[in-house]
Amino acid sequence: MLYKKITKLLIGTNNKGKLREIRRLLPKRIKTYSTSSFNLKSPRENGKSFKENSLIKSKYFSKKSNLICLADDSGLEIDILNKKPGIYSARWGGKNSDFNKAIKKVYREIKKKDKNWKNKKIKARFICALTLCYFDKKIACVQGIVEGKISNQPKGRNGFGYDPIFIPKNRKKTFGEMKFLQKFQIDHRFKAFKKIKKFL
Ligand code: IMP
Repeated sequence: MLYKKITKLLIGTNNKGKLREIRRLLPKRIKTYSTSSFNLKSPRENGKSFKENSLIKSKYFSKKSNLICLADDSGLEIDILNKKPGIYSARWGGKNSDFNKAIKKVYREIKKKDKNWKNKKIKARFICALTLCYFDKKIACVQGIVEGKISNQPKGRNGFGYDPIFIPKNRKKTFGEMKFLQKFQIDHRFKAFKKIKKFL
């Protein structure tokens, strides 16, 4: 297949934390654009999975910007909550994406399921789906996962979203306690990136 390397790319997210992480993962030769430089609002994410939602965003932003778009959809699955918040991870923060509110809701919901949960291992994972599209054409769609558990209480001020309550497998610190570079090398986004790199 004749394949030209990508030189310009729109990063299809309105989340500043994710934008920063994605930019650092991309090869330096790629000139990146953000949705805010095109004044683009996010489309309705009515897919049933992370992959479907990343595809919806990627197609939408590509059509609006006339650029190849890399969009992600990510979130936290908690086993005891039947994999919630899952694709609703952002929405649990309410209209203002208040992550303190989302974290409180996680603890409230876990407690409803099991009052003694603090003495148990509450398995969870972060998932990131990445999709690369040019208009309606899907170039690639991959997924990265980091397994772990929910911390008894929020810890650390680094990162964003659910970082203060997630402890990755075989580690003691939450993502929120880790330095950016520590989290960056083991998280779901990094794993998904490793898979999509060959298409860039
Ligand atoms: P969306 O992919 O923009 O729909 O939102 C995903 C949501 O999942 C974010 O707003 C965060 O709440 C959460 N999330 C995704 N990745 C991470 C992460 O690396 N750390 C903490 N929270 C995350």
